[in-house]
Amino acid sequence: MKIETIAIHAGNHIDAGTRAVVQPIITATTFQRGEDGGFPGGHIYTRASNPNRTSLEQLLAKLEGGEDAAAFSSGNAAGMSVFQALEPGSHIIAPDDMYHGLRNQLKLLFAGILEVDFIDVNDSEVLQAHIRPNTKLIWLETPSNPLLKITDIKQVVAISANHGIRVVCDNTFATPLCQQPLALGADMIMHSTTKYFGGHSDLLGGALITAKKDAFWEKVRTVQTMGGAVPSPTDCYYLTRSIKTLPYRMRGHMNNAQLLAEYLEAHPKVERVMYPGLPSHPQHAIAKAQMAGFGAVLSFQLKGGEAEAKRVVNAGQLFTQATSLGGVESLIEHRASVEGPDTKTPFNLLRVSVGLEHIDDLIADMERALG
Ligand SMILES: *Cc1c(COP(=O)(O)O)cnc(C)c1O
Repeated sequence: MKIETIAIHAGNHIDAGTRAVVQPIITATTFQRGEDGGFPGGHIYTRASNPNRTSLEQLLAKLEGGEDAAAFSSGNAAGMSVFQALEPGSHIIAPDDMYHGLRNQLKLLFAGILEVDFIDVNDSEVLQAHIRPNTKLIWLETPSNPLLKITDIKQVVAISANHGIRVVCDNTFATPLCQQPLALGADMIMHSTTKYFGGHSDLLGGALITAKKDAFWEKVRTVQTMGGAVPSPTDCYYLTRSIKTLPYRMRGHMNNAQLLAEYLEAHPKVERVMYPGLPSHPQHAIAKAQMAGFGAVLSFQLKGGEAEAKRVVNAGQLFTQATSLGGVESLIEHRASVEGPDTKTPFNLLRVSVGLEHIDDLIADMERALG
């Protein structure tokens, strides 16, 4: 089945009792046992599993072409569960522009527990030089945040396979509409479902999707159910509901992003636009080869420097200055101030999450903001 059909049907079970077409929210935390002490309903206690979470997890697995998925209370909780599932003393290779929330986990929470190198994972010589006997994981994030760098997933997988290293890809910016890392050989996908999956800036969530239900996956499941960083049944319901329109929302987001990127690139006050859908993007060829679409986050640098960036960030009426991405409303953000003192993000850079407003209105608003 195609992704539009999966998005609508894979997470839904028509209720046997009431025949409700939309699966009801089961708020119960505990489930009645059978007379033999078993669990004929398939659920015991909601930290371990819940009907709405199970439906969401089945949907996520099908969307990304994995054997199984686990839903978490946030993207950061999903990422952390992968790190927690590693044996202490394991070595991780991660991108030097990794999402700052996860980078900070590795630097602050896992210091002394895991060894980490932040490198340019796209440079195969650098990558190979950093592989150690205890390297257990290569973390990828493509397109990256906020520079929209592209990592050649197949190239990394080819190197990791020689060493039996697991590859996990943060697919938040791309979504399965644009990029299917498991099909390219990655072992696991991470999502902040807070972003495009939720799509309306009103829900926090995360997910892991695995290619294989292997021993490491069982460990991740153990971390999930013992740690309990799980989403509520209501959040699972709303996320499942939002995903039904994900394919159509993504198309609208991407169409707007491409047009806004082209508009900005032609603007005299703009120094540079970073969007994988532009032929000027240094890795446009890799993006075209491994992506079916280029996502809807773009960054641009202003000729007027940091002061001009901080003026423009407040000057729009439709572009709200706020962090996050993937919602129906367009957001704009000065990333360097969010990421803290060790940021590598240029100070004249603004990141835009392109929403679903009409593109004519977005361009007119940007035109006014740029002045
Ligand atoms: C937002 C985000 C995360 C973290 O997800 P939360 O849901 O905020 O915990 C991780 N990776 C990327 C690329 C993100 O954009």
